[in-house]
Amino acid sequence: MIFGIDAGGTLIKVAYAKNGTLQFTKFPIAEIEKVASWVNEQSESRVCITGGKAGVLLSLLNKKAKEIMEFEATHLGVKFLLERMGRVEDSYLVTNVGTGTSIHCIENNRQERIGGTGVGGGTLLGLSHLLTGVTNYEEIVRMAGTGSRDRIDLKVKHIYEGKEPPISGELTASNFGNNLFSVAAELSREELLAAVLGLVGETVSTVSVHAAKQCGVSTIIYIGSSFFENPLLKEVVTSYTVLRGAQPLFLENGEFSGAVGALSLV
Ligand code: ATP
Ligand code: MG
Repeated sequence: MIFGIDAGGTLIKVAYAKNGTLQFTKFPIAEIEKVASWVNEQSESRVCITGGKAGVLLSLLNKKAKEIMEFEATHLGVKFLLERMGRVEDSYLVTNVGTGTSIHCIENNRQERIGGTGVGGGTLLGLSHLLTGVTNYEEIVRMAGTGSRDRIDLKVKHIYEGKEPPISGELTASNFGNNLFSVAAELSREELLAAVLGLVGETVSTVSVHAAKQCGVSTIIYIGSSFFENPLLKEVVTSYTVLRGAQPLFLENGEFSGAVGALSLV
């Protein structure tokens, strides 16, 4: 068996080839020893590892493994997954919304990291937990989907009352900037979670659109497990990206980009 493993800050993503077919699986980082045991048990296997926890995983393996730099692995994986979707793209931006968010410009088959933000999937989990006590990712996403941000976020049109605003009135003027003092005690967990998700989605897409301009591209490919079964985050990111003049693209299995890139170098 051959393995490509991306051991990130929160999740370990594994791409492996079994009987000639590509398979994907993931584990929480707390299960890194279990992943190492699984790989160690396979005879005749070859492994390539990437991600911030690659060193920890390597130290737990009883066999030789290749290591590849995370940004290069992601770049190779994105290329592979794009082709698998039948897309031909030469120049684009890649925004990886993992625990944190990392932004890369791809041109002439080369990637350059051009920025990032500390607002990412970790913020979604952390802020959600602090505000509502909910810890489970699926639950956060499900509850956020039924909440409204109207009482929490302030839109441009709320400031420009009775007057045409100079920019779209639908843009958020201030995340968590509505007059919260009067309603704070009444806010439901669903409303708070929707607002956290909005903050993360809008920050990530706003930073990405600026980066796309700097890089001179209009397609922004969003990857990372933060989008996994998270239609609301995709919707927030899509509408903000489009509103600001760029084209979003979500890769199928995009959260496995790093693992797929590592697998391609085994
Ligand atoms: P980084 O690349 O920053 O080192 P990472 O590679 O571990 O981190 P990803 O796996 O791409 O990051 O994304 C992690 C985020 O995905 C979490 O912060 C969370 O918002 C979301 N997520 C999706 N599924 C889960 C899950 N089952 N458990 C925890 N978080 C999840
Ligand atoms: Mg990662």
